Amino acid sequence: MYNPNDAHLKSWVKVPADSDFPIQNLPFGIFSDGKKSPRAGVAIGEYVLDLHQLQKGGYFDELKLPDKIFKQPSLNAFFALGRKKVGKLRKEVSKMLNEAAENRTIKYISKKCLIPVDVAEMLMPVAVANYTDFYSSEDHARNVGSMFRDPDNALLPNWKHLPVGYHGRASSIVVSGTPLHRPMGQSKAPDADKPSFGPSQRLDFELEMAFITCRNTLLGERISTKEAENDIIGLVLFNDWSARDLQTWEYVPLGPFLAKNFGSSISPWVVTLDALKPFKTEGPKQEPEPLDYLKYEGRHHYDIQLEVSIAAAGMDEKVVCQSNYKYLYWNMVQQLAHHTINGCNICVGDMYASGTISGPEKESWGSMLELAWKGTKPIEMPDGSTRTFIEDGDIVRMRARAEKGGVRIGFGEVVTEILPPVAI
Ligand code: CA
Repeated sequence: MYNPNDAHLKSWVKVPADSDFPIQNLPFGIFSDGKKSPRAGVAIGEYVLDLHQLQKGGYFDELKLPDKIFKQPSLNAFFALGRKKVGKLRKEVSKMLNEAAENRTIKYISKKCLIPVDVAEMLMPVAVANYTDFYSSEDHARNVGSMFRDPDNALLPNWKHLPVGYHGRASSIVVSGTPLHRPMGQSKAPDADKPSFGPSQRLDFELEMAFITCRNTLLGERISTKEAENDIIGLVLFNDWSARDLQTWEYVPLGPFLAKNFGSSISPWVVTLDALKPFKTEGPKQEPEPLDYLKYEGRHHYDIQLEVSIAAAGMDEKVVCQSNYKYLYWNMVQQLAHHTINGCNICVGDMYASGTISGPEKESWGSMLELAWKGTKPIEMPDGSTRTFIEDGDIVRMRARAEKGGVRIGFGEVVTEILPPVAI
């Protein structure tokens, strides 16, 4: 049986040793080469493979895919075919890129289907139907609880019984490379007697991963922890931008609103759960035992190394955080089971962010709020300046990769430059 995750596979397309996109990865994205209409592609080394061109050449005939399924500005219709079909296609692509592929295939692909990454502009991979943000890292929840409430009683009573979350805004999710303006808004300093309006003074990133669903369910339908993985196609890196000063003032009693909905940035490649299978790992022991509908069997955490850096014009980038997706307390099958336990329906292209992924060590904390401890411990930068939050002109870069047995499955990066506020 051909296994596209086999560490021994080699591609005839040259893949640099430090590439995020070896033949074992084959993530899906939407790209434009500036000439043809946006379409679906697969990343291989330093190229994007044009899936529409392959379908046109008859290479997927056996899979009986709908006509022009890849000649679309989103992957939604393709992902709606389901995890099994998408997995089959990934396997076919792997065979075509394998060094053992037929000469005829190699010739056709080299001539017609490979676009260098520096020519391809990556676009949003999916039309985001709905966006939910969880709060599933215990270290993050404890850090925030200690800062704003009581260090001895940092977790709220519900936290270990359910994956806390809220509904975010889908319209302002943007792809890596899209600059964002510093938001303006209302805030109130603790010692001020009234609120004021102006640019956020506490703009922050949140290091997260988001999973994407590939099925439309009916209202009233539930997804169990056992079934959940079949409805999840893959993951992207997710930067849930947050304006802390706006958040502090507005969030009571209903939760985040304008402090979060001005923008969230994602990496352009959807790395499939199929490709991540070798990186499954144990999660933390859950104590107290969760209610039955949140119990799960098997391993549903993933060992994915995460990194955040800050750079600016004339300043080298500095890595400020190194964390790991495996640190989450609640995993994605629990999150999806909880999300649907009340009968809430899900859609193809929904995005479910993990919540800020902080680890136990200070260096692994996934936001400036924690790294600079509410502004009290400034971080030194390579040019001698310091940061407590993100400044105008800063470029925040997140990277993610899983590595094992000589195989590296990477996500590429999500990079965002922060611009000054739009004048009123
Ligand atoms: Ca968040």
